[in-house]
Amino acid sequence: MRQANDRVTEHGGGVWSLRVPIPDNPLGHTLVHVLDTDRGPVLVDTGWDDPDSWTELTDGLRALGIGVSEIHGIVITHHHPDHHGLSGRVREESGAWIAMHAADTAVVRRTRDSDPAAWLDYLARKLTAAGAPEEHLAPLRAARSGGRMRTLPGLGAALPDWEIVPGELLDLAGRRLRAVWTPGHTPGHVCLHLEEEHPAGLPGHGRLFSGDHLLPGISPHIGLYEDPDDATVTDPLGDYLDSLERIGRLGVAEVLPAHQHAFPDAAGRVRELLDHHEDRLAGLLALLTTPLTPWQLAERMEWNRPWDHIPYGSRNIAVSEAEAHIRRLVKLGRAEAVTGTEPVAYVAV
Ligand SMILES: [Zn+2]
Ligand SMILES: [Zn+2]
Repeated sequence: MRQANDRVTEHGGGVWSLRVPIPDNPLGHTLVHVLDTDRGPVLVDTGWDDPDSWTELTDGLRALGIGVSEIHGIVITHHHPDHHGLSGRVREESGAWIAMHAADTAVVRRTRDSDPAAWLDYLARKLTAAGAPEEHLAPLRAARSGGRMRTLPGLGAALPDWEIVPGELLDLAGRRLRAVWTPGHTPGHVCLHLEEEHPAGLPGHGRLFSGDHLLPGISPHIGLYEDPDDATVTDPLGDYLDSLERIGRLGVAEVLPAHQHAFPDAAGRVRELLDHHEDRLAGLLALLTTPLTPWQLAERMEWNRPWDHIPYGSRNIAVSEAEAHIRRLVKLGRAEAVTGTEPVAYVAV
């Protein structure tokens, strides 16, 4: 692996990564991967939709001798704006196709069609059911009645042209890139397995573009899938843990994630994350010896800072993560709803 300059890393075998900044975000940047094919360069993810990010992406491509107009296709690991944000602009300037898993395309379509007021109503309903206190709900109600509804992120996200079908090879001339469905972080997250020998001869079976599913130093956010129209009791944490095991079994030589840096030993990292989640679930069970609402559980869970210092929007995400953990524990028969509680409290069994 060679660092050509700050923004471009050459991974060998016709694969490069570009650092595309995410404005005002501690993650710093998205690693957009460029994959050479016989019909032109293909991007794996595109980066945040922001003028500076666009400049970095196009400068990075130029450093590789690639004009944006030459991009042949865009493969998206998942719909989040730090991955899919610039896809529409790249397509406009190049005519490239965009491919995404159907479950995330459904999220893009729903977000594009959604009415901010209906979304605020959904959020208020959901937070009330989770046991959020009045002072947390009041700003939502005020925004709703005062018509101060900021636009939702993702309203302008690009609709894909192609569906990524799990288990199938993508139609890329001269390359073997197979989609592996890895739901959990989002319902349609995919990893992309480059089934070609490692260019530096690292032992193992090819390389994996892992998106946000498998990162070297971060445990990705697992919340609820947040579909206001779907009453199915999904189990995103269960999906994520299954997806991790699926990735661990591939035996890849190297992982090319969408944040941080490339790393070997996917199976080792998978084990660490499985252990981390096992510990976390055990910790939550200990908290649930007393009946708690999802909100109360979130307040008591361990985060990267004390609850009092967690900003408003991040608390909503934290509660969603607490609920995902409760669903897993209920599904495993380790916790249950306390009958007659409103909002519903859960207790370890
Ligand atoms: Zn993400
Ligand atoms: Zn991300």
